[in-house]
Amino acid sequence: MKAQRTRSQDRILNLLKALNRSVSAQDIYIELRHHNQGMGLATVYRSLEALKLEGVIQVRTLNSGESLYSCVQQDKHHLTCLQCGASIGIDECPVHQLETELQKSHSFKIYYHTLEFFGLCDRCVTEISC
Ligand SMILES: [Zn+2]
Ligand SMILES: [Zn+2]
Repeated sequence: MKAQRTRSQDRILNLLKALNRSVSAQDIYIELRHHNQGMGLATVYRSLEALKLEGVIQVRTLNSGESLYSCVQQDKHHLTCLQCGASIGIDECPVHQLETELQKSHSFKIYYHTLEFFGLCDRCVTEISC
């Protein structure tokens, strides 16, 4: 049931793959202009919405309310230090099994999940307790 992608959607998806980071719709709009592939901001939003429903991009909403878009990442999680901002990748996904179970028990097609851990890295823990 792969829907036919429009050219705008293709351009945005390629851009997100090339950038390899999370960007806002505004950033995408500006980047596309730089590459002479400019399109209206409304088209950018519409394309992002379609790609999101296709399960190929994911959205993260910041505290500021701004939405950041990126390609759906590999199943990879991080420990983030609140003090120094260090981001430590963890190798195993602790909820991979859960995802499979939920998919079955709720007949829900899961595209991706997010899971982040926050706290202090070993260096910062030492600094703060000193
Ligand atoms: Zn730290
Ligand atoms: Zn995971």
